[in-house]
Amino acid sequence: MMAEAGVYIHVPFCAGACDYCDFYSIPVTPTDKRLDQYVDQLLKDLEASLIAEGISRVPTVYIGGGTPSALGAARLDRLLEGVGDLLPEAPGVREFTLEANPESVDEALLRVCRRVTRLSLGVQSFHEPSRRAVHRVGEGSLLPERLKMAADIFGDALSLDLMTGLPFQSETILLKDIEKALSYKPGHVSLYALTLEEGTPLAAGTHTLPEPEEADRLWIAGRDALETAGLTQYEVSNFSRPGKQSAHNIRYWRMENWLGLGPGGSGTLINDETGTGRRLTVKADLDAWLSCNTGDQEEYLDQPTLIQESLLMGFRYLKGPDRRLFEKRFHRPPESLIPQTLHRWEARGLLQKEPLALTKEGLLFLNTFLAEAFRELEGTN
Ligand code: SF4
Repeated sequence: MMAEAGVYIHVPFCAGACDYCDFYSIPVTPTDKRLDQYVDQLLKDLEASLIAEGISRVPTVYIGGGTPSALGAARLDRLLEGVGDLLPEAPGVREFTLEANPESVDEALLRVCRRVTRLSLGVQSFHEPSRRAVHRVGEGSLLPERLKMAADIFGDALSLDLMTGLPFQSETILLKDIEKALSYKPGHVSLYALTLEEGTPLAAGTHTLPEPEEADRLWIAGRDALETAGLTQYEVSNFSRPGKQSAHNIRYWRMENWLGLGPGGSGTLINDETGTGRRLTVKADLDAWLSCNTGDQEEYLDQPTLIQESLLMGFRYLKGPDRRLFEKRFHRPPESLIPQTLHRWEARGLLQKEPLALTKEGLLFLNTFLAEAFRELEGTN
């Protein structure tokens, strides 16, 4: 029986579709009856999953998407209240994060937000030509007013997402974006490098994007600006002030259990005794899910697969893989599995031993490091 898990809830609705996005979401209008049905079904699923998996402690909840605020304030309130009522009592403060688009922040939404401890807003950029070029959902001119409203309520429990590598984004424009974002004093900032996800309009190649070297240079300039302003990088794309890291996302990087609910949601439950686990994925099909013909997938994760995933997720984190959990599950330390790779990266000054982790410069080459580590794991290097 699993005792503890985080909960991720995927809300698969958006007001439109941004060109770079490959998350499962469908465009809806506020009168779509599936919005109410979604809340009913989600609460039923959460109750059933908590019982089926024997979850008695939920330290973190993350409601993402999609755009949770696309549910509208009243439905969102019903969802948050229902989730709170279903979760087992927990000692201490539970981290409860809600994602929203800044444009949807209004008094009604902020009243609903009293039920969460953290608000994460997808700004991406203040620069209109960049926003328009990728059809970023939402009205950029509303950002200053809405961000101020959110900052007044949430203070440093506010997290803002920004993007680098957008069309028409020079270093000067990026640094202005960062300066504007920091003027709202968020405790947490995610700085994402734009990636071309297969099947998205952006990947069709019709946009003018910075060359890869220029995109890398921009992201590094952004990273340095955030750190100079006092936020510390703690993962590939995440920066925070002290005590303001995302406890929920840290569960992913440490490979601690979480449930994933809602169409397109995915969870991972690991048995620490056997070092094996299960991945439970809800099919990304709202109508099938609502009609209870869900087509959910359950994938068995054997030990070699979990070792690989623990390295893949763990080395994203600036504290590296969780040694205690790794040894408990796999009965050996990470060093015994990829000694040659670790030795080479340490010799290049891109890896440290205590804690075992890539340095900030090493993180820039994470994919190369992982490719070498996996070749060594498979005995093919
Ligand atoms: S608002 Fe967010 S989830 Fe919706 S399409 Fe845009 S990036 Fe994707």
